[in-house]
Amino acid sequence: MRPDQRLVDAAVEQMRRRARTEAAAVYLHDGSILTSVALDNLNAAANLCAETGAICRAHTLGATITASVFVSAWEDDSGISVLAPCGICQERLAPWGPDVLVGVAAPETDSGWAVRSLRELNPFYWGRYFADGDAWPAPGIHSP
Ligand SMILES: [Zn+2]
Repeated sequence: MRPDQRLVDAAVEQMRRRARTEAAAVYLHDGSILTSVALDNLNAAANLCAETGAICRAHTLGATITASVFVSAWEDDSGISVLAPCGICQERLAPWGPDVLVGVAAPETDSGWAVRSLRELNPFYWGRYFADGDAWPAPGIHSP
């Protein structure tokens, strides 16, 4: 499934349920949704991005992630933005392949966001070195 308003709404609902300023939602291959919030800590080195919980849950379930969105609320209450996953979260999503679709900011659109694949976000992905002739490393190489 592609990122859509339903997935964004699930992330926003999760963000509000936990009174946070960031959250994420992922679609699994069967259309179900997992959501999570960032793990913030006094020691910033222990923080985890909002996507991490949903990604770890999907991995625990042996499920396939097909799409991910990250939402962030502006502190001045001026709205909510869909932002691309950070570089680390792109790495965390990479085991599901280059065709995982993510939400990205697109202020020129009516919704303010658009959809891109991991391949589009990172056309020179370093892991291609380990792809053994393919365009993307196999899941077993990413997550043995
Ligand atoms: Zn991240």
